[in-house]
Amino acid sequence: SETSTTNASTTNDQYFVRAKASIPGGVNSPVRAYGSVGGTPRFLVSANGPYVTDAEGREYVDLVASWGPAILGHAHPTVVSAVQEAAARGLSFGASTPGETELAELVRSRVSVGDQAPIEKIRMVSTGTEATMTAIRLARGYTGRDLLVKFAGHYHGHSDSLLAEAGSGLATLALPGSAGITAETAAQTIVLPYNDLDAVRKAFDENSERIAAVIVEAAAANMGVLAPDPGFNKALSEITTQQGALLIVDEVLTGFRVGPAGWWGLEASGAVPGGIGWKPDLVTFGKVIGGGMPLAALGGRAEIMDYLAPLGPVYQAGTLSGNPVAVAAGIATLQLADASVYARIDEVAALVARETSAALSREGVAHSVQNAGSLFSFSFTHGAPRDYDDVRAQEAFRYPPFFHAMLDAGVNLPPSVFEAWFLTAAHDDRAVGRILEALPGAARAAAAA
Ligand code: PMP
Repeated sequence: SETSTTNASTTNDQYFVRAKASIPGGVNSPVRAYGSVGGTPRFLVSANGPYVTDAEGREYVDLVASWGPAILGHAHPTVVSAVQEAAARGLSFGASTPGETELAELVRSRVSVGDQAPIEKIRMVSTGTEATMTAIRLARGYTGRDLLVKFAGHYHGHSDSLLAEAGSGLATLALPGSAGITAETAAQTIVLPYNDLDAVRKAFDENSERIAAVIVEAAAANMGVLAPDPGFNKALSEITTQQGALLIVDEVLTGFRVGPAGWWGLEASGAVPGGIGWKPDLVTFGKVIGGGMPLAALGGRAEIMDYLAPLGPVYQAGTLSGNPVAVAAGIATLQLADASVYARIDEVAALVARETSAALSREGVAHSVQNAGSLFSFSFTHGAPRDYDDVRAQEAFRYPPFFHAMLDAGVNLPPSVFEAWFLTAAHDDRAVGRILEALPGAARAAAAA
């Protein structure tokens, strides 16, 4: 069979023991280790549509979607064929390909609303981490300034400057930052509370002409989902423009997921309030842009993007940047992700969020459901959280029993309360039905915690 190293008689437990002997923690990315929920991670061997299948042959309805990329569902046949055809033509050339330009043009035209088109040029890299790392280097090179402003609980990948009070796995593991980052580097990142414009103005007052950029998740989704206050992103754009700094909007997670033009597209079109009439200077993409292959990008105003080598003095490169197989997956995915895909995801996301909240309420579990378009998550809080401190103060101990009850019932949720739940266009009535069936038991488990 296709899984020659997989043997149905080997359990997840056995794979985990074996993995831990050769791989730190048994995982190649920390949250996968189930550190905050406990138990044995499922070792997955295949995925199709809304389902994933583990090494023991058990199928789960998947609400992780590879942490976002699988917007069409797993292994969409058209995407798989595009990948197979590209692979047959060669895996990597280390040279320019027609596909890269096609994908660049696709992104430029998609990320536009009316006459506003923030992506004039785009550079492709392999991971979201590289995209944000390059964007901040570019901002520093362009402005000639050193300092960076980020928000507590926002995750932008694992480059040195961006790990201060970051969300995602650091939130899961309750880490303030990472060992191995020099004090000098850490001192160049100013971390502010989210949704606090006074704090942003104060940081600029105190560091006049020293801040190169403000980086912000378009809508925060790595401390659970926390949409920006209406007008927050627009105000950031106005402040940075006034102050001669750049605004980097990180759409690695939200881009092409919450809508065809990402979160910015929802604001710029008026679909969410307070956001008409502003543009980011730089935008980072990842996840959906590669359709499940390693591909990410940064884009923005041509005048800024042209500061990148070979035209400009800011260096960035990559052996596998714009990899032809990844680009083929990205093009096929974006071409298929039309209005009907977003409409379906909006619909199932709203349904699952509503029903989960209802199940928790029936059991008397205090919680808040937060969404940013079709992205949503739950916090076990007594009111709606607004920032990282609020999110961290929740009754997080209720999540592990909730998670495991869902898993036992065949539903794969993110193994951390600080992560968004991801629906796909492949979540049909059968898959959604299985989620709904699992909810009452899981809510009881959360209540009993
Ligand atoms: N930015 C955001 C907003 C993200 O959610 C992530 C990953 N979850 C990243 C950057 C980093 O992307 P990658 O994991 O591909 O390095």
